[in-house]
Amino acid sequence: MSTIGDRLDTVRTRIHEAALRHGRDPATITLLAVSKTQPAEALREVMACGQRAFGENYVQELADKADALADLRPEWHFIGPLQSNKTRLIAGLAHWVHSIERDKIARRLSEQRPGEAVDLQVCLQVNLDAEASKSGLAPEALPALAEVVAGLPRLRLRGLMAIPAPSEDFATQRRAFARLREMQEDLIRRGHQLDTLSMGMSGDLEAAIAEGATIVRVGTAIFGSRRVAGRGGQGL
Ligand SMILES: *Cc1c(COP(=O)(O)O)cnc(C)c1O
Repeated sequence: MSTIGDRLDTVRTRIHEAALRHGRDPATITLLAVSKTQPAEALREVMACGQRAFGENYVQELADKADALADLRPEWHFIGPLQSNKTRLIAGLAHWVHSIERDKIARRLSEQRPGEAVDLQVCLQVNLDAEASKSGLAPEALPALAEVVAGLPRLRLRGLMAIPAPSEDFATQRRAFARLREMQEDLIRRGHQLDTLSMGMSGDLEAAIAEGATIVRVGTAIFGSRRVAGRGGQGL
């Protein structure tokens, strides 16, 4: 049976090889280990192999793990849907939020970010496929939200995030990620200084890297299948 360490190595190799295949420097791609539903001990095991950044989808679960792993100081990325009554915990604990889709949430995070903390790094989440069930804002709404978020103190707008409709076909995967890259390029032309494309998961990270991903969010390929049924969150 393969261990978490073996699977982490396999994922690192996939990232490395995809980067080289597409003419990119592997060092420009960050692996975010998506640890939702996994127990704190599993994160400890992954940290012992040198992994520092973890993605969580549920606020209380992130808070519990931040507590359990306080001695190791992981870097926390919040990647799930965020309700306004939960922003304070995230503003206090997270280093990154990838799932900004409303100005109200961004304003609250900005107001609630503790004064002594470094700026909260944020990405706007785009709904690429106009699926009603999916999180993220419509591409047309991006420029206006980027303008608001870029102007908020204590937040630093870094780029875009998306979860395209699942596909087994590499060319189809690539087309979706290329659209996100083009939206990012459009925002850069409008004067935003963006350096982050958060895209690619266990099943499609190669296509995402081909199109310029700088953060890939990988769960099952590292941890194996998730431990408990989802609580209505996306991507479960
Ligand atoms: C669960 C999740 C992932 C990881 O998905 P895997 O297919 O397990 O790699 C990535 N991003 C988001 C937003 C998720 O919810």
